[in-house]
Amino acid sequence: MAVTVGSIAQTLEKVAPKYWAEEWDNVGLLVGNMADSVERVLLAVDGTPEVGAEASERGAEMIVAHHPLMFRSLKNLRADNPQAEVPLKLLKHGISYYSAHTNLDQSSFSSSWLLGQSLGLKEMDYLAVTGYETLVKLAVFMPAVDVEKVRQALVKAGVGESITGGPHSGFYAESFFQSTGEGMFRPLPGAEPSIGSVGDLTRVEEVKLESILPERTVERAIKALLKAHPYEEPAYDLIPLQNRGQARGYGITGYLPQAESLGSVWQRLTALLRDEPWAEIQYRVNNDYVSEQRPVYERNITDDMVTDANSGKTAIHCLGGIRLAGDLAKSVRKVAVVNGSGGSFVQKALFQGADLFIAGDIDHHAALDALQGGMAVADIGHFISERPMLYNLAHYLRSAKALQGVEFIISAADKSPWIVQTSEKQ
Ligand SMILES: [Zn+2]
Repeated sequence: MAVTVGSIAQTLEKVAPKYWAEEWDNVGLLVGNMADSVERVLLAVDGTPEVGAEASERGAEMIVAHHPLMFRSLKNLRADNPQAEVPLKLLKHGISYYSAHTNLDQSSFSSSWLLGQSLGLKEMDYLAVTGYETLVKLAVFMPAVDVEKVRQALVKAGVGESITGGPHSGFYAESFFQSTGEGMFRPLPGAEPSIGSVGDLTRVEEVKLESILPERTVERAIKALLKAHPYEEPAYDLIPLQNRGQARGYGITGYLPQAESLGSVWQRLTALLRDEPWAEIQYRVNNDYVSEQRPVYERNITDDMVTDANSGKTAIHCLGGIRLAGDLAKSVRKVAVVNGSGGSFVQKALFQGADLFIAGDIDHHAALDALQGGMAVADIGHFISERPMLYNLAHYLRSAKALQGVEFIISAADKSPWIVQTSEKQ
């Protein structure tokens, strides 16, 4: 069966449900058709005209991007409206555009987790928890002979999958509790019972099958259950639980295994932004895209060097624009990380006692507040702080059973809008 835009959306929403997104956000399928079949997907941070062109050149039928394509309200789709350029082009080429933004930021697939893990942080947790998954217990009763059929239908609907989001999440499936007992019922005139006869009290050896599932998956589970169950009126319980489900939130905190100087952490951070897997970018040779390990900054300097004809000054497109505020000799143990616009979380990181706060987009005043509170801040740039997320997503999507046969490629045209001045022309 062909994989569709819809099946990719469904797989993404398993880890970043759309309802997690902020009210002001614009996530999900923004351009295209859920029913279109897909063989190649381009992953990018931004839906820039360059990324749009790359998708059509590389034969991708879908773009999965972090930032929404249409953020402010788009009033028309006219050719002379610059805001409409990309959506119009995508429509023309039959390319769908899907955005996973603040919903993805609040999941454990965000860059914050990946950067924290890469720095070697231990005891990682969300910096700002925004909610917990609501959990429900489902218990269903059926004749022993039908257990396997019902169980398999429930498994297919996702019941029994790991619900904690903890470190072992994803490693366990088909979790149920099964017990046996006796069920009874008296079919009344008009019934067509599959066991027993009308008017007789019928006793049946029955099995009770229980599992816990997130509330948002209940509808699908019940649909599968009703279809597989042999009874006209299956008996089942849906019990709301007070147990907390998987947490979600912005950013992370964690501890370095031992105290380290800010200078040393800084050196490791800049090195990992340069050398880690997300530095593997696909670049273009004679219209073919070739994947090769190349440091991000090397690519910047060689591919994106711009010389201003008037001033003669040379500048580079900067993926990071990495800046640090703090005393290099300062001892660091607790670190907080927020990808993207993290400036608004400075107070939260201070309150949690972080020695170093790493984020994209920290403004002047937020940096001063941090320093005054005794916390160092690293502003690594919005783009580079979010680019690692694409590698997380690509890894997840490539390993999804339902999406086998689809190629997930990481954009080469995706880049930070900033240019950093580096030197005067000789
Ligand atoms: Zn962002």
